[in-house]
Parts: sequence; C-alpha cells; structure tokens
Amino acid sequence: MTASSRPQPAPIDHPNVFDALRLPVLRRIARWRWGRLVFQPPLLAVAVLLMYDGFTGPQNAAQNLATVVPWVHYRGLVIVALLLVGNLFCMGCPFMLPRTLAKRFSLPGRRFPQFLRGKWLAIAGLFTLFFLYEWLDFWASPWLTAWVIAFYFVASFALEAFFSESAFCKYVCPLGTFNFVYSTVSPLQIRAKDTDICRTCVGKECINGSYSPQPLILIDHIGVNGEPDKTHSHDAKGTPGCGTLLFAPQMQSSMDCTLCLDCVRACPHDNVGLLARAPGSELLNPDALPRRYDMAFLLIALAFMGLVNAFGMVPPVYDLLQQIADSLGLTALGWSNTAIEAVALGLVFVVGGLLLPIALSLLAASAGRALTRTRKRDSLRVALASFAPAFVPIGFGFWAAHYGFHFLIGFLTIIPVFQNFLLDHRIAGFGQPNWALGGISDLSVIGLIQTVFVLGGFLWSMMIAQRTALRLYRRQGMLGFLPWALLLTAMMLASLWLFAQPMEMRGTVFD
Ligand code: SF4
Ligand code: SF4
Repeated sequence: MTASSRPQPAPIDHPNVFDALRLPVLRRIARWRWGRLVFQPPLLAVAVLLMYDGFTGPQNAAQNLATVVPWVHYRGLVIVALLLVGNLFCMGCPFMLPRTLAKRFSLPGRRFPQFLRGKWLAIAGLFTLFFLYEWLDFWASPWLTAWVIAFYFVASFALEAFFSESAFCKYVCPLGTFNFVYSTVSPLQIRAKDTDICRTCVGKECINGSYSPQPLILIDHIGVNGEPDKTHSHDAKGTPGCGTLLFAPQMQSSMDCTLCLDCVRACPHDNVGLLARAPGSELLNPDALPRRYDMAFLLIALAFMGLVNAFGMVPPVYDLLQQIADSLGLTALGWSNTAIEAVALGLVFVVGGLLLPIALSLLAASAGRALTRTRKRDSLRVALASFAPAFVPIGFGFWAAHYGFHFLIGFLTIIPVFQNFLLDHRIAGFGQPNWALGGISDLSVIGLIQTVFVLGGFLWSMMIAQRTALRLYRRQGMLGFLPWALLLTAMMLASLWLFAQPMEMRGTVFD
C-alpha cells in the first residue's frame, strides 16, 4: 500500500474514543522496545512443551498436551479473543521469535514475488491445513501435531530469512489468515489517532521504521521536520516498521494486522492507538478492503470451509465418503483405506470448500447485477467483492459454534493432562489426574450456545448484505439483496442441520 493509493479517513483524535494503549500496563508494553517479549517467550515455551510431549509423551490424544492444547483450548480461546479484543494470538505468536532472529541475522532480503502477493496462497494454505487435519486426523495424533508445530517454525524462519517483508504472516500463514479475516469483527483496531499529524510527518516511521536492518522504503535517519527526532534512536536500537506493510493513517481494516505494535513503537509522535470502534464496522465500509477476487473468495470460502470442516465431524460424512468411494470404484482398486479416504474426502473438501463458494457467490453476484440491471455499470468482480464482507459474521458464527463445542465440552481437560505430564516426568506435587474433568456436559446448553452463534452471525451477515445492496442499488436494493439473502439463508439452514448432528468429542477422554 502506498501513501497515495487510499483515501485518508477523517481525523479521529476525540477524547471519547477509547484507546486500549492508554491503559497503564498496556501503554508501557506498547512503547517498550522489547514489549513483544512479554508475550512471545511464554508462548514459545508452550510451543516447545507441546512438541516435546507430542514427540515423547503418551500417544493417546486425550492425554497429551500436543493435541489437547491446540485443538481444544487454542481454537476456543482464539474465538473469544477475536470477539472481545482482536488478533491477540498473532500479537504473542511464538513463531515470530525465530522469525525475528531470521530478520536480524539474514542478508537483506528480496520482496516476495509479485504474482504471489495476494490471498491465493493463504486460501490454499487454509484449505490444505483443514483437509490434512481431517484426513490425517491431526486431532488424534500428538506426534503429527508436534510435526505441524515444528513445520511452522521452519516455514516462518525460512520465509523471513529470504524475504524483506513479513511474507509468512501476510501471504502464507493459515492461522494468521484466519485471525486476519475474523479480526474484522473485533471491537479494537490499530489506527492513527490524528491524521493531520501524519500529513506533516516526514519519516512515516510507522511503516518505514525508526530503524530497520532491511528497510522497505529507506527513510531512516530522517527525523521530524528534517531534524533527527529526540524520542527514537535511528540506529540498530530503533524499531522496524510495519512488517505487513500497513500504513497507520490509511488503515481502515484490521486485515493483515498482527497487532505486533511495531507501528506504535516506531511512531515518533505517539500517534498510533488501539482504538475502539463498533464491532465489524469495517465490513460496512466499501473502502476498507481491496475489491479483488482473491480477497473476496478468501472471505466467502472461509465461511464455506467452516461448514465443510464441521461436516467432517458428523456421522453422515462417513456414509457420503463410502458412497463416493463405491461410485468411483475406489474400493475395487485395492488401495489402502487412507488413500481411498484421501480421494473421497479431498473431493468433499474441494467441492464444499472451494467450488461451491466460488460458483454460488459468482451466481449470486451475476443474479444481483441482472435483477438490478447494473451489468454495464458494475463488473462481476465489483459486485462480488462488495458483498464478500457479508460472509464474515456468518463464517465467524460457524467457526465459533464448531470450536466453541470442543472448548466448552473439554476446557478443564488441560488439568489432568498437565498433571499426567508432570507425573510422567516424575515432577510430584500436583496429585493424580482426575480424567473425569471435562467442561460443560449438558449438550443442550452447548447446542443453545452454538445456535446463538450461528443465528447471530447469520442476522449480522444479512444486515451487512442488505445495507450493501441498498448502497449499491438504491431503489432496486431489495432485488439486489435477494440472491445473497437466499445464499446466506441456505448456509444458515445447512449449519443448523450440521450442528444438530452428534459431533465427535475430540481431545477429550470421551473420544
Ligand atoms: S509515524 Fe506516526 S505520525 Fe508519522 S505517519 Fe505514521 S502514524 Fe502518522
Ligand atoms: S506494525 Fe503493522 S501489523 Fe503491527 S500493529 Fe502496526 S499495523 Fe498492525
């Protein structure tokens, strides 16, 4: 993003706008050069612990930290964090520590290839992770989960060492992409507090860095008004600029923001805040996200992947896989069950997670343009991308219902699993594991919470789609809204059916 490519939002330095970074402890962490180390080393220690237990501990998924922590607790807590605050996981991401080392000690890197700078790789990464998760049963294998974590460290380190920007976070990381998409519903967002100050700011340190060993745009040593500024050292003790190339005064979305707070540290005018906003308000802002096919399909496909991923956990999927295997004659080929499942499940995922969202959303966009007679005025891309943000709340509802199920049913399992780990390593003093500990055992309560997430997300999506249609098509708004309303309603009904099915209780002793 360049300084001139986006309209600048109006100044918002109003005393009534809540800035989370004004809170005393957060303010210190945000301004402190090593502030990120408050969160990263503890999470790095957790990641190492998970790998250690995954490789060496009991291979029963319900008794191993490597499977219980990521697949039950991490996913549930990510949903809570996104809903209440924002992209907190990326803020403390343990994979960033070796990544930062790579950045410090590598030679000046090259830019990530132009043709890969979009969301296509991220869509492929998400799809691959979800498919492998179901096919190889990551949730049931501490050993495989430990390998996934190890792979993550290697991949993030390698990409950071080769490329100048944070290519792994911005273009590849499936976990980060999930958080980027759903942090658009969060109540807090990084923004410049007063864009008038930004207009006269010479160094634009929030993006360029007060010092960076691999500056993206070399403006180091330029201070405010041409003088070296007093608040920042423009040397190796300085702060890098935004790794994902966001420019604070033009930010209208949380997309791509890892909440690393580097921009807060780098800004010499204390002009970047973590400001309150109406949750999801950016989804109603037509300028918040670029109107590109890759961005639109990311938002839409991730909602569909939420359905497909949940479908992989309910009994009807096994009947469907068997029917696919029989109708394709796979069982007669003498293949292993794993190979047959790869083909059958792969088909379900490709159709449900990629082909259906692409086909149905293009159909809805075409129908909307035809009904409102705007085919000449709006391209298919513009019509599609305008409505894509409406798929964020419903998608968030699906994932919250799914991940919430595992979390609510098993959040206390961490206690006996950790006790067991300590006993295995002869660290006494924490008692015998009580394997009966789980979470909420009343499935009707969990079902109610799931329904609230699904219906809440659906209604929120309908509101966004309706307002988008009224903005785009004016008096023809209800006609333009119709195809999208039908698609969202069909997705909502499918999810209600899905979540009414008995689900596998992964990561608990009730597997
Ligand atoms: S460094 Fe601070 S004042 Fe300068 S452009 Fe960035 S946010 Fe604005
Ligand atoms: S530096 Fe970039 S990614 Fe980090 S908090 Fe600021 S805008 Fe977000």
